[in-house]
Amino acid sequence: MSQRYVASEKLLERALKAIPLGSQTFSKSMTQFPHGVSPYFAKKAKGAQIWDVDGNEYIDFINGLLSISIGYANDDINNAVKAQLENGVTFSLSHSLEVEVAEKLIDLVPCAEMVRFGKNGTDSTSAAIRLARAYTKKDIVLVCGYHGWQDWYIGSTSRSLGVPEVTRSLTKVFKYNDLQSFDQLIHDYKDQIAAVIMEPMNVEFPQAGFLEHIREVTKNEDIVMVFDETITGCRFSPGGAQQLFNVTPDLATFGKGIGNGFPLSAVMGRKDIMVLMEDIFYSGTFAGETSSLAAANVVLDKVKNDKVCDYIAELGEYLIANLKDLIDKQDLQKVVRVVGHPSWSFITFSDCGNATSLEIKTLYMQEMFKHGILSFGSHNLSFSHTKEHIDALLKAYNEFFVLLKRSLGNGDITAQLDCDVLVPLFKVR
Ligand code: PMP
Repeated sequence: MSQRYVASEKLLERALKAIPLGSQTFSKSMTQFPHGVSPYFAKKAKGAQIWDVDGNEYIDFINGLLSISIGYANDDINNAVKAQLENGVTFSLSHSLEVEVAEKLIDLVPCAEMVRFGKNGTDSTSAAIRLARAYTKKDIVLVCGYHGWQDWYIGSTSRSLGVPEVTRSLTKVFKYNDLQSFDQLIHDYKDQIAAVIMEPMNVEFPQAGFLEHIREVTKNEDIVMVFDETITGCRFSPGGAQQLFNVTPDLATFGKGIGNGFPLSAVMGRKDIMVLMEDIFYSGTFAGETSSLAAANVVLDKVKNDKVCDYIAELGEYLIANLKDLIDKQDLQKVVRVVGHPSWSFITFSDCGNATSLEIKTLYMQEMFKHGILSFGSHNLSFSHTKEHIDALLKAYNEFFVLLKRSLGNGDITAQLDCDVLVPLFKVR
C-alpha cells in the first residue's frame, strides 16, 4: 500500500465500522476509488485546490460532485453566509431571502415563472414528478439520465432493491439521442404519461431536433416536460441547458452549483403548474434555510454579472482541444475519448487488446492522484480553475498517456497497478 494515503486508509477502516460504505454519498465512497492508491477523506479546500487527510494537495476536478461552481470557500460567499449566521439560519417564519433568490431565478431561467426550494436535487425532481402527476392526473413517468435516490426514479435502475414493484412499473427509461426509444414509449403508454424528465445533456450533445421533438410531443400529448438541470443549471449558461439549446421545458430542477456547496435545490416552471404546489404536499422544515439561500444569492449574482458560464466554457474548450492533441500524439484515439460539454467533460476508456477499460481507468486514477489531480474521469470545472490548473492537468495526462501507450504495447497494464482493479459500478450515464 502506498505511504501517501495512510491517514485516509486508517479513517476508512474506522468509518466502515460506524457508517455503511464509510460515506454518506455513493460517489464519494470506497466503491469509486481503487483501494490503497486513493485518498478517501478531505481535510480542507480553497478555490480549486483540495487537501486530503494525509496532507496531499490536489487540483480538484470533481468539485464536490459539481456542487462547487464558483470555488471552495469563496470569500464573497462565505462573507454573505457569515453575515446570515449572525442573524440566525432557520426561523419560525419564512424569510425575505426566499423571495429574493426566487426572483433571481425567475429573472435568469427561461421556464421559471415560480420557484420552490429544497435541499437536494432529489427533493426538486421528486416534487416536479408529483406536480406533473397532479397536473395531468396521469401516473407513468419517462426518465432519461440520473434523477436522485427516490423510489419513483431509482426503481428504474439496477439499484432497485427496496422499491415496490408497483412503483417500479410506473417508470420507463428511454435512451438519450434515441428518438425511436422515446416514440415507442409514447406509443405504448398513450394517455397514461404524466411527465418526461430528462437531463437535457450529460455525456453527449443533443442531436439536431432531439430535444425539440420531445418538446413538441409532450406539448401535443398533455405531458409535463421536465428538464433535470441539477448539474447543467447555472453551468451550461446562466439559465441552464434550456437557454443554451433554446428549448423551454414546462418545469426545471436546479441543484448542486446554485449554492456553491451549500445545500440548496429548486424546482421552477410554468405558473399554472407551479400553483398546484398549494394542493399537493411538498414541504420541509429546512427548505427555506437561509445560510444556503445567502450563498445562492451571491452565486446567482456572479453567474449573471461575472460571465461565470462563459469563462468556464472557454477554459473547458482549451482543455478539450489540448487533450485531444495529446491523445492524437500518442495515437490512442481507439482507447481514449473525450466527451461532454466543456464545463463538464469526461474522459472515457475502451477495452484494448487484453486490457479492459476498467484496468485502464484504475491505472488512470492511481496515476492522476499521484500527480496531484483529483478526478475520476470527469473535468468538473469551476470559476476558480485557471489556465495554469488546466496546464497542470494536461501535463499529468501527458505522462499518463505515455505510460498507457507503453503498457498497452507491453501488454502489462495490471503490472503497473499497486491495487486491485475497480469493479463494475452502478452506472446511469
Ligand atoms: N439529478 C441529477 C442530474 C443529478 O446529477 C443529481 C445528483 N448527482 C440528482 C438529480 C440528485 O441530486 P442530489 O444528490 O442532490 O439529491
